Amino acid sequence: MAKINMKTPLVEIDGDEMTRVLWEIIKEKLLLPFIDLKVEYYDLGLKNRDDTEDGITVKSAEAIKKYGVGVKCATITANSARVKEYDLKHLLPSPNATIRAILDGTVFRKPISVERVKPSVNTWKKPIVIGRHAYGDVYKAAEMEIDGPGKVELVYTKADGTEKRVKVADFKGSGIVQGMHNIDDSIRSFARACFLYAIEEKLPLWFATKDTISKIYDGRFKTIFNEVYESEFKDKCKAAGIEYFYTLIDDAVARVVKSEGGFLWACKNYDGDVQSDMIASAAGSLAMMTSVLVSPSGVFEYEAAHGTVQQHYYRWQKGEKTSTNPAALIFAWTGALSKRAELDNLSDLADFSRRLEKSVLGTIENGIMTGDLARLSDPPAEKILNSWEFIDAIAERLK
Ligand code: NAP
Ligand code: MG
Repeated sequence: MAKINMKTPLVEIDGDEMTRVLWEIIKEKLLLPFIDLKVEYYDLGLKNRDDTEDGITVKSAEAIKKYGVGVKCATITANSARVKEYDLKHLLPSPNATIRAILDGTVFRKPISVERVKPSVNTWKKPIVIGRHAYGDVYKAAEMEIDGPGKVELVYTKADGTEKRVKVADFKGSGIVQGMHNIDDSIRSFARACFLYAIEEKLPLWFATKDTISKIYDGRFKTIFNEVYESEFKDKCKAAGIEYFYTLIDDAVARVVKSEGGFLWACKNYDGDVQSDMIASAAGSLAMMTSVLVSPSGVFEYEAAHGTVQQHYYRWQKGEKTSTNPAALIFAWTGALSKRAELDNLSDLADFSRRLEKSVLGTIENGIMTGDLARLSDPPAEKILNSWEFIDAIAERLK
């Protein structure tokens, strides 16, 4: 059989632990036999990030900027335990944070739905996609312990030296304080990325904040979203037949639980962190959640939402063939390949990506699955396979 050709290289970013093990098998069994795979490879395994003083991470993000599409394996975010475990020279920053900062992106997370795994919320008929703003707020906040009585103020010293101040609190005793920020340009990029995604996927867009309480901070988010909608996307939304809907975050949560699903929920950074795990677990399993970073400049990075599945890796190192679910990793590849196909006008490649996704879904729908899904499957699984057998079963179906 002739292999499918590619035009532009895909930026392939390798990672760590169990996902690195699966990555290799996915390529060997599901991609290389069918595609003349063109990639520019970056090894973001922890050791190599350390050896290159994290230069490799920056290079991989620059490559995504250059070529437009990347696919990334899960990577360890180092902490002191990992420094010891891998005998590292540096405590490296989170590679995802580094890449996101360079690409200025918004992260979209979408569950992979299968009939056999019913969402815990029984009104949900269609997937709910989360669009998470990936800059600022509590993730870039300054915090302080207050030891005893005293006044805390926010002080803004302008470039010309003039000052603006506002009282935060008069402390009568000990306590805590936090200052956080965001940037108009980043909020605008977030809004644009959400509208672009919603239009491309033909999904209504919901956005929610707490602007009744946080009139200036959350109010700015609401205003910018509205400006971006009115000035750039109103007509495009109409043409795509989708609606933009703003409400308060508490109202949104109540509506989400009663909804049928089938919309994009744009969330501020913290809301997105919390709600994407809620959506993932209510929809089924973390192993069935896809993730794509979309930058407003039209650059895409696809990955699985889960981490490196550390505990499975330690069992694999001891010789166990673990039943780790490769679905979200495979969908990271199909997402990236079909985006490459779209940009390069390669219908064979687009077709292949669809078939591979259908093979994964069809295998699961036939009752053949990994252990995490078997725990949720209704009707019960016919066969519970380890990752190697499961990937073989998908390859069989794909052929
Ligand atoms: P994790 O890798 O997401 O795994 C947490 C648990 O979820 C696993 O122990 C497993 O549960 C289940 N799980 C996740 N993915 C699965 C899959 N594909 N198949 C079956 N079960 C799956 O999180 P972690 O173990 O807490 O984190 C490990 C490392 O990943 C950390 O070093 C962290 O920094 C990194 N991380 C990276 C990314 C990224 O690169 N995008 C994201 C998150 C975390 P059971 O043990 O019950 O089977
Ligand atoms: Mg989280």
